Amino acid sequence: MSQRDYYEILGVTRNASEAEIKKAYRRLAMKYHPDRNPGDKAAEEQFKEAQQAYEILADAQKRAAYDQFGHAGVDPSMGAGGFYGAGGASSFSDVFSDVFGDIFGGTRRGASQVRRGADLRYRLALMLEQAVNGTTVQIRVPVLDNCEACGGSGAKAGTTAQTCDTCGGHGQVRMQQGFFSIQQTCPSCRGSGKVITNPCPECRGQGRVKRTKTLSVKVPAGVDEGDQIRLAGEGEAGEHGGPHGDLYVEIRIKAHDIFKRDGDDLYCEMPVSFTTAALGGELEIATLDGRANLKIPAGTQSEKRFRLRGKGVRNVRSGHLGDLYCRVSVETPVKLTERHKALLREFDELTRTGGARHNPREQSWLDKLGTFFGKAS
Ligand SMILES: [Zn+2]
Ligand SMILES: [Zn+2]
Repeated sequence: MSQRDYYEILGVTRNASEAEIKKAYRRLAMKYHPDRNPGDKAAEEQFKEAQQAYEILADAQKRAAYDQFGHAGVDPSMGAGGFYGAGGASSFSDVFSDVFGDIFGGTRRGASQVRRGADLRYRLALMLEQAVNGTTVQIRVPVLDNCEACGGSGAKAGTTAQTCDTCGGHGQVRMQQGFFSIQQTCPSCRGSGKVITNPCPECRGQGRVKRTKTLSVKVPAGVDEGDQIRLAGEGEAGEHGGPHGDLYVEIRIKAHDIFKRDGDDLYCEMPVSFTTAALGGELEIATLDGRANLKIPAGTQSEKRFRLRGKGVRNVRSGHLGDLYCRVSVETPVKLTERHKALLREFDELTRTGGARHNPREQSWLDKLGTFFGKAS
């Protein structure tokens, strides 16, 4: 299914200011809000579409991701969900109260408290390759979902909940305590404003049931530890038929046998025999794209780092491509035979006669030691 461009939906240009976006959304929301168009499916769709577009474009980070990656950057398969970096995104209710606070503020309170369901968090462990290349993963999430038997109302099918007598449907009651009059959640209906006389047998009047949902999560290429993917509306169902919370999929990356990752760069350790390090040579190394050869010069020292440009990770937000750093770790040979030892002794004698020429670091170290103890005595 192709999705319309968010700027087009709101009828603004790509360089529209925040204020212009908000104004455009407000105009559409006023026109298509379900409260104003009861039962009108087409209006509801347009409202949802505008809502989705606004949610992305009103947030600088999400807007940048959308500008850069299009719908893929904000995950088209998950409705208003999408990818944002660590730190999360403002919830829908924040956006809602921000824009509608002054329009619907008065009408939303009062009759009953419809509460939005809780946001949920799911930790998704990925292999490094999956995170770097992107993937689609099926996850199973236990969630409190709307009861299908009663449509979330909690009242047995064919019956409806009655307005609470104690609070007259307000969900709040005033209590006199000494000199004070305080407002409290109604004890009879626990704030819902409704009393269920025939509770739904499936959910025992709760309107919600525990269910394990299978969801498909599209992970964009380049995600890193701690990044979050939000699946809008896949959180817990709201109480009393309230809207769903969101599900935040938090990325965890499993340790890799070869590579360590730091941002966009990859690091690996490369054991090199001391003869190869001394003579130079070609080594076979691994990159995420496959095998590669790396030439090292004669006289390569331990700890020396070789940089392979562009063999790191492509940043999911900036598109910047990182590098791969391979660090040499010279391996001292072990389990030597008598012949090996004899050759090494001969080699040692030959190099020693050259003085500092062949082992300049060792010589400079010995010089420093001499100076240090010379001073100390
Ligand atoms: Zn039910
Ligand atoms: Zn009540």
